[in-house]
Amino acid sequence: MLDLAAMQEEAFNIVKGQAGPCGITCGTCVLGNGTIAETAAKTKSYIAGYGIKEWAPMAPGGAEINWAETEKTLEWMTKYANCQGCEKGGGPPDCVIRSCANDRGYPLCSQCSELDGCNKFDWLGGYAATRKQTLSDNHGKTKEGYIADALKSQ
Ligand code: SF4
Repeated sequence: MLDLAAMQEEAFNIVKGQAGPCGITCGTCVLGNGTIAETAAKTKSYIAGYGIKEWAPMAPGGAEINWAETEKTLEWMTKYANCQGCEKGGGPPDCVIRSCANDRGYPLCSQCSELDGCNKFDWLGGYAATRKQTLSDNHGKTKEGYIADALKSQ
């Protein structure tokens, strides 16, 4: 039997001190902090514990569900749907924000004078403005202070 609380704590401990230069704090990200993996494990145990496979055929579409595949997917997510954090190789390997900030020596883009007009956030689509605003709002904070405040307010 999996110890879900320990599993999530372990995931959180790996990422809690990390943030991407884009300002995403890895400890508040559900992929990094273990929430998605834990949810997958819980869902798998609910399927068994509540006999969902047995009564599903009585509900619309329930007879067509491949439960073996569903369980396989949830097991896979429990093991692998996690991220080691931006500083440990997690996130998109070709993130242009991360490589630019690393090249310029900025732990956070809030330290960059070009943030307002920067187009490297564009690939984030509608989320880009939010990220840039958060970074602007936290201008002057160290990365450690920024992460501590983000974890406090979640
Ligand atoms: S130009 Fe500045 S704000 Fe834009 S990605 Fe590079 S370091 Fe970050």
